[in-house]
This record gives sequence, C-alpha cells and structure tokens, in this order.
Amino acid sequence: MAEVKLINVWKQFGEFTAVKDMNLEVKDGEFMILLGPSGCGKTTTLRMIAGLEEPSRGQVYIGDTLVADPEKGIFVPPKDRDIAMVFQSYALYPHMTVYDNIAFPLKLRKVPKAEIDERVREVAEMLGLTELLRRKPRELSGGQRQRVALGRAIVRKPHVFLMDEPLSNLDAKLRVKMRAELKRLQKQLGVTTIYVTHDQVEAMTMGDRIAVINQGVLQQVGTPDEVYNRPANTFVAGFIGAPPMNFIDATITEDGFADFGGFRLKLLPDQVEVLRDRGLLGKEVTFGIRPEDLYDAMFAQVKIPGENMARAMVEIIENLGNEKIVHLRVGDINFLGAFRSESKVVEGQEVDVVFDMRKVHVFEKGSGKAVF
Ligand code: ATP
Repeated sequence: MAEVKLINVWKQFGEFTAVKDMNLEVKDGEFMILLGPSGCGKTTTLRMIAGLEEPSRGQVYIGDTLVADPEKGIFVPPKDRDIAMVFQSYALYPHMTVYDNIAFPLKLRKVPKAEIDERVREVAEMLGLTELLRRKPRELSGGQRQRVALGRAIVRKPHVFLMDEPLSNLDAKLRVKMRAELKRLQKQLGVTTIYVTHDQVEAMTMGDRIAVINQGVLQQVGTPDEVYNRPANTFVAGFIGAPPMNFIDATITEDGFADFGGFRLKLLPDQVEVLRDRGLLGKEVTFGIRPEDLYDAMFAQVKIPGENMARAMVEIIENLGNEKIVHLRVGDINFLGAFRSESKVVEGQEVDVVFDMRKVHVFEKGSGKAVF
C-alpha cells in the first residue's frame, strides 16, 4: 500500500502562506500531477511529501504511516519515507560510470553485490541503457542522463516516486519522447508517482489525475478529461487548454439567452434549467467557450441565425498548418476561434461564426465557480 494523503496541510514561510489547507489523496499506483503557475506552491507540496519541508499544520500520510504531523511532533526524515526523487537538475556523480550511478543507492543500503548487479542490469534494460553502462555522464546526451537519473530512482523499488519538472532541461523533441517513456515506465512499475509541472500538455498527457493549484490553494482534482471538459472554476478553465478558453461577460436573460451586448446566443433547455435553479436568470455571469468549439459557419452542421451564430470581424489569423487561430471581434468583444485549415477567412473581412452550444460554460461572476 502506498497511497499518499495530505489532510488540511498548511505551509507558512514567515508571514507568507505557500500552501493553504491542502487536502489531497493519491491512490496506490496512481500517476498524480501537481499543476499550476510558477510560485503556486506545487514544489512546496512535493517537498512536504518528501520530508524536505515540514508542514506548519496538518498531516501527511505515506501508506498507513503518519510521516508528518506538527501537532503530534511527528516528522519522519526523507531517508525513512521509502520514496525516490527525481529533480530538474538530475545531479549524477560525474566521476562514476552509469552503472555505478545507478548502483549507488543500493550500495548505500549495503545490498549484496550480486543483487545489485542483477537490479542495475534489469533497470538498464528497462531504460535502454545497457549499452551505456560503462560510460561517464559527460559522454551521454541530455535524455540519456535523465534516464540514468530515473534509473537511480527506480533501482531501489521505492513505494513512491516524487518528480519535480524532471523533463524541463530537455529540448522540446526529447521531452515529448521522454514523456511517453516515463508514462509507460510508471505503468509498468505500478509505483505511486507525484509529478510537479507547470506544463499543462505534460499534465494532460501523463497524468491519471491532475491536481490544479493556484496561489497555494487546490482548485480541482480530476482526470485530464474532467479538468478539461468540466473545469471547476475560471482559473482551471483558463489554465488548461491552448489557446485558452474565451471568457466573455454576459447577462442571462429571462428567456434563456446569453446576452453579450453586441450579440446573443440561445442556451440549451437543460442549461437554462440549471441557471434558473441557481437563481441566475437576469444575472450577470462569465460565459466561457473554447476556441475549438467555435466554427467558421461554412463548416458547421447546425446553423441557426440569432441562436448560435454571430457575424465577427477577422482581426488576425495565425496559420498553424493544421488549424487557423483566428482573432475575432464583435463590437468591442474579442475572442479566439480555432478554425479548420480549410477555412477561407481573410484578415479584415467578416465571417459567420457558429458556437457549439453544447460545449459552452457559465461561471459565477465574482467567485468564478463553474455553474456548468
Ligand atoms: P515554481 O514552478 O516556480 O517552482 P512552485 O509552484 O513550485 O513554483 P513553490 O516553490 O512551492 O512554487 O513556492 C511557493 C511560494 O512559496 C513562492 O512564492 C515561493 O517564493 C515561496 N517559498 C518557497 N520556499 C520558500 C522559503 N524557503 N522561504 C520563503 N518563501 C518560500
């Protein structure tokens, strides 16, 4: 059993609160991502799990063991937590061979030589390092070095892996490759993994679940699908997805339209029901729609003028080859559309834009909490 549990965990640095009342349960064998902007507290959270930082309040469990609880005076040091860490700067020992680097944690633990040899070779095989075991770190590429660092973490068969942006020093192409490798390896080993990143693509592609953090506060925990399709609030909605979700101020009319001033869109009956239940008819809200849920009317299936369409000015087109990111404007309302590459939009001309009303989101005005 190697669940990891944080219960009402706080971390203060003097006056500054880096982590606020964090509650998080990572399941046995799960790949959990801690995602958020720089300074949001994800590294501090990871360091508290590792034992490199003591919480100011709250409890941390690894498996059934309470490893930190300041109120009870409990603090288990990192070396006794049965975890392995991989960081951005994967400090390998430069004078040691790949073999010795990987073997090092086992030697420290006085594991018998024959067993060390077996485990190092097994790990090397798994990571495609067998041919490189005699080399020194300086004779390796960045990706190979990162794999050695992973090997050193894996070889001990810890209960939990903690990783802090381990791929961020690699070039873009290698990062994509290592992303897939790391995910495959994690599934193969079945070791509970907590992985810190600010890169939402990394989070979406690797995580079983993602914990989105902002300003020390956990915003939402969910599968990639959940945080993308059912974001809990405007922060999560805006942080996940590129280009980001469009947010437009709107008033929900009594007859079930989202009214933007310049144009309006008819909400679906079940959406109106929810808004009525929440007392939001006649109220101001934040309306959200992802750029990929807007269509050039030329390619839209369902076109109902006055209900799901608006005529917009095309301000700028960014042609990405596989799609066109189109900067659109209706009156003084600006938003982005991700159109198919076949779209014939022209800068400075108007286009009919169709909104996929099944995909729209409504958020409460002040709190930013999602209604749907
Ligand atoms: P990044 O992606 O930039 O590493 P992060 O989300 O991992 O960001 P943390 O490193 O957890 O952020 O830091 C959270 C906040 O706590 C930051 O504002 C940081 O300046 C502050 N902080 C972290 N460690 C300390 C410390 N030892 N003393 C004072 N403040 C700290």
